[in-house]
Amino acid sequence: MSFIETRGNDGIKPKEVEFSYAILNPSASFGGLYIPKELPNLGADFLQNHIDKSYKELAFDILSAFKVDIKDEDLKIALDLYDQFDDKNNPSPVVKVKENLFVNEQYHGPTRAFKDMALQPFGSILSSIAKQRGENYLILAATSGDTGPAALNTFKNKEGIKVACLYPVGGTSDVQRLQMVTEDGKNLKVIGIHGNFDDAQNALKNLLASETFKETLNTKGTKLSAANSVNFGRIIFQIVYHFWSYLELLRENEIKNGEHIYLTVPSGNFGNALGGYYAKKMGLPVEKILITSNANNVLTSWINDGVYDLNNKELVLTKSPAMDILKSSNIERIMYEMFGSERTKELMDELSSKNCFRLSDNEKSKLQMEFSATFSDDAYGLNTIKTYLENGYLMDPHTATCIKAYETLMAKPLKNVIYSTAEWTKFSPSVLNALNSDDVKYKDIDALEVISHKYNVVVPQMVKNVFEAEILHTCEIDIKNLEEEIVKFL
Ligand SMILES: *Cc1c(COP(=O)(O)O)cnc(C)c1O
Repeated sequence: MSFIETRGNDGIKPKEVEFSYAILNPSASFGGLYIPKELPNLGADFLQNHIDKSYKELAFDILSAFKVDIKDEDLKIALDLYDQFDDKNNPSPVVKVKENLFVNEQYHGPTRAFKDMALQPFGSILSSIAKQRGENYLILAATSGDTGPAALNTFKNKEGIKVACLYPVGGTSDVQRLQMVTEDGKNLKVIGIHGNFDDAQNALKNLLASETFKETLNTKGTKLSAANSVNFGRIIFQIVYHFWSYLELLRENEIKNGEHIYLTVPSGNFGNALGGYYAKKMGLPVEKILITSNANNVLTSWINDGVYDLNNKELVLTKSPAMDILKSSNIERIMYEMFGSERTKELMDELSSKNCFRLSDNEKSKLQMEFSATFSDDAYGLNTIKTYLENGYLMDPHTATCIKAYETLMAKPLKNVIYSTAEWTKFSPSVLNALNSDDVKYKDIDALEVISHKYNVVVPQMVKNVFEAEILHTCEIDIKNLEEEIVKFL
């Protein structure tokens, strides 16, 4: 199946490309992104046929339906990485919390956040293509805290691959930072930047689109790609677990095949939500996708008012830092599906020149047919963590934002699967603030100890390990020195 471009073609880049091309060269014409030219149809029969299949088989069949140009054996090797999750038969378990509320726990992988769901197999596939072609790649990753550890973990010591990972100094939790700065592997460079996540992601996008940077890399025999969800190689794996959610409910006899459910996604770059949207378009019976944000609620106004306005908006640091984003990469893939490439280019051009765009009423209603949105501030989120733990379910601050959608956005009494994108252990100081109703600045290592004792919950060994490990990366720089720093590393 071929891939085309969200903003149309510039006459220089190829008009249609294969999957491998799209993941090796994620930046398309006019700064756009690659999207599938058409989507496979995987409706009721597909679901019926997959009730007894494993997660890996489901993933294999969905990727095959996209006709990706990856050898079956390489795809299988990539999917075998799910074997290192807590339960190899169920890497992303769906837990019932109450009558119509279910949680898909996406954090059972090696770095304890949902980024592993896609980055583990993505890293394997990208490395195997690079090896087959005998090419060397520099992979850029900008992170608000979870993409970084997951990308470093999947690419470490991979032949032909180097990774430069940018994180905002002070913008991540201790566990997240330690996961990155203690990761060994000669092919990894971790760079703290003075700025926030949007600054890091903008720097990444500028480098990706820069011809002079590509030429510099060329002289070193290196090509450039990215591990962020601008890369369709991540998105394709994020379609799978939405199907899995539905199959889990079918297996538990919670629904009948064809019955609609809600999916609730805590959103930042909109990759997780985009995966749900594609699943719906491919035939998964989804009533609507409910989008939650934190105080950085640009996505809420995009969906509710049809306005994406960054003027006079400052990024605020919240208790759910992985969602502290104003410029959300994947909304343009949604707009492409709904409004076409010409209009998408127009809207994205407006966003870069005026920092703002406005959808027509008609476009807004199209968007609202598929999505509803709300946001949860920290006070609401922390209170949610406390109340749910009193009833026996422990969740992290990102997951907690979903409860706002569960409580306010469901127009019908259907089952709702909310996505738990991180384990509480990555954000233990905030969780302890919630439980104690205070705002003491706890250290991660202390908060982990207190919570695990008081509530009898396990801290996984890989989280404990980061506190013992040697710090290997100490580089912190201003963004203006980024290019130079990366070239030095190469
Ligand atoms: C990345 C991340 C999100 C946001 O996901 P997007 O796909 O970027 O919308 C939410 N929660 C956590 C914990 C994350 O790491």
